[in-house]
Amino acid sequence: MFIGHYAAAFALKVVEKKASLGMLFVATQFVDILFFPFVVTGIERLTFVKNYTEVNNFYMNYYPFTHSLLASLLWGFLFYLVYKFLILKKKPNTGKIALVMGLAVVSHWFTDLIVHTADLPLFYGKPKYGFGLWNYKNATFITEAVLLLIGFLYYLSKTKPITKSGNFLGWFFVLFLILINFLNLYVLPANEDIGSLTVSALIAYFLFAMLAQFIDKKRA
Ligand SMILES: [Zn+2]
Repeated sequence: MFIGHYAAAFALKVVEKKASLGMLFVATQFVDILFFPFVVTGIERLTFVKNYTEVNNFYMNYYPFTHSLLASLLWGFLFYLVYKFLILKKKPNTGKIALVMGLAVVSHWFTDLIVHTADLPLFYGKPKYGFGLWNYKNATFITEAVLLLIGFLYYLSKTKPITKSGNFLGWFFVLFLILINFLNLYVLPANEDIGSLTVSALIAYFLFAMLAQFIDKKRA
């Protein structure tokens, strides 16, 4: 899953309005932000198999340290601790901010579950789960767009624009994300170079987080 993860970021922002939307964007993709460098350094494995699914050629046969349910929970807990004790430095009434950050990290596994083939472990090896929506490209595109829109509309309904651009910038951003996913699924050729794949994924994740932070500053 790609842009659909951000539905959780928008929803959790509503749960705790003091949380940074940009950081929630980072948190929902946190295990993928680790995954690509882990593949480059040989800690985890990604094999390219032509037409493995309709959406991509990623055969992820070994990635327990980022994409097992257990690892997701541990990364979420670590994110919570770092946020609470290092970033917020035990400031009063900030526990809920750290909590939504941790939940955002964990949400990644559950949204990945919808699209991945049965490659997501609970612990380390088998059993592995995944509902396999990636076998249907159009359904994947629509599902991610709908998820993102539901999250965004919920966020819009619970926040108010504080500048004139507060509404249309948000819409512009969400439509931009859907366009990027369209290009990713239908236009751009399959990339089988892990180095450039890693760089482009990390640039996308951090760029989207910065844009999310920017549009959120226009709303209250
Ligand atoms: Zn993932």
